Amino acid sequence: MSAPVLVIKGLQVSYAGNRAVDLAELTVAPGEVVGVVGANGAGKSTLVNAVSGWSRGAPRVAGQITFAGQRVDAWPTHERVRAGLVLVPEGRVAFGRMTVEDNLSAAFAAAPAPGRRVYSRDEIYELFPRLAERREHLGQQLSGGERQMLGIGRALMMGPSVLLLDEPSIGLAPKMVSQVLETLRALARTGLAILLVEQNVRAAIEVVDRLLLLERGRKILEGPAREVGDDPRIAEAYLGATAA
Ligand code: ATP
Repeated sequence: MSAPVLVIKGLQVSYAGNRAVDLAELTVAPGEVVGVVGANGAGKSTLVNAVSGWSRGAPRVAGQITFAGQRVDAWPTHERVRAGLVLVPEGRVAFGRMTVEDNLSAAFAAAPAPGRRVYSRDEIYELFPRLAERREHLGQQLSGGERQMLGIGRALMMGPSVLLLDEPSIGLAPKMVSQVLETLRALARTGLAILLVEQNVRAAIEVVDRLLLLERGRKILEGPAREVGDDPRIAEAYLGATAA
């Protein structure tokens, strides 16, 4: 496996003095899909948001985030995006009153760079034929699965070398879940590094190389998906998530 393109060290994120994430180390290499799972409130969204430099509230973020050999933890979100560190946020359409076509056209198009593949709009339609069928529909008319495809499509047009995803399976029909996750797996085969936050542990295990279990912001288990998939703590997180 090649050297990691994303290295997170000593990441601590707190809201009003309450520690939401406390992670000693997390790496993702090109072509690798790393899954972060855990029950509600475990800190999964806080983690990917901190990596992308975005936040809902006003968290205090400390630690080192190294992306493609550069420290980016002091960079604003848009600079991380321009460099190829791109977050697909949870279940939202960028522009609800714009068509699928316009949503894609409005995506920031990165300049071609080594190790980064910038997708064209037509390539996104090839990847997700469903979006091509819906190209004249407004963002707000799309189903959950179609919104997710649009979010991933926009992100790919920004030429990511690391893609961060927050719960891409949420609100999706089971068939759509496997379709979206299989697409991510296929993208990783092209060399993209993927950090995938998921509550749907069973679905995540099918596509990730490595799985990390978070509990109250801390990593309590990490290993190859095949090995840790049967760990009772994973099953507990899964049951916790479904109960929630
Ligand atoms: P979920 O699947 O429910 O989104 P999660 O694992 O993504 O859960 P986070 O949303 O990251 O968990 O939340 C981690 C902790 O941080 C929780 O205790 C939560 O209450 C707290 N938290 C998250 N966002 C904020 C915020 N904007 N302000 C204050 N506390 C927050």
